[in-house]
Amino acid sequence: MKILVTAKRVIDYNVKIRVKADQSGVETANVKMAINPFDEIAIEEAVRLKEKGIATEVIVVSMGTDAVQETLRTALALGADRAIQVQTEQELQPLAVAKLLSALVAQEMPRLVIMGKQAIDDDCNQTGQMLAGLLQWPQGTFASQLVIEGERLQVTREIDGGLATIALKLPAVITTDLRLNQPRYASLPNIMKAKQKPLAIITPAQLGVDIAPAWATLKVTSPLTRKIGVKLNSAEELVAKLNDLGVLP
Ligand code: AMP
Repeated sequence: MKILVTAKRVIDYNVKIRVKADQSGVETANVKMAINPFDEIAIEEAVRLKEKGIATEVIVVSMGTDAVQETLRTALALGADRAIQVQTEQELQPLAVAKLLSALVAQEMPRLVIMGKQAIDDDCNQTGQMLAGLLQWPQGTFASQLVIEGERLQVTREIDGGLATIALKLPAVITTDLRLNQPRYASLPNIMKAKQKPLAIITPAQLGVDIAPAWATLKVTSPLTRKIGVKLNSAEELVAKLNDLGVLP
């Protein structure tokens, strides 16, 4: 069974995000980038399925400028067998990504697609669901456990206040939650080996997909900063202060 996994290049979660002066988006120049953390979990799960002999090949896909090749090489070092870059300079929204993935699924014929539940840059949490809709495949979203037995899958899903376990049939789309696994680190020998693994490049036009955006971003702003508070020493001081502010009846 082939597994397709996705790896989005996002700003590293440790970086303090800065909004661009013209409010058109966030600053990405000279900022540390990384694989979307939920996608690292997707790669780890796919690689473990290969190690268990359930998967035969793990193909990793990333979409964007040539910078995503670095992301793909990291995924290859983590254990994916080959990589595909969908090359574009254009901003990709979830529906465009889902359509591109759907076209790749038609070419590669995987039985399972594993993706992150959301990208930590746009927090859309839409792409996996849209892909399952386009393919008319069942979906197990927010997976915290995945059990595969033949053509059947059991997915434990993280839902409000508990867990839900659902049964699906392959082919299927899975999106990962944080507790699915603990991703490994890439070892130096595997980073070296990853340089030799195949990385194919394809364009949206070659896949016959229109990637025109479905919405326009009007502006992006930073959260409001809280006014600095005052430290008081006693309840009396607090009452006096509230009286001064005129908030007591
Ligand atoms: P989103 O719906 O934007 O929150 O993204 C959900 C998931 O879709 C991510 O965790 C990725 O696995 C995948 N995805 C979204 N955009 C891309 C991209 N440009 N390249 C590869 N995967 C992507």
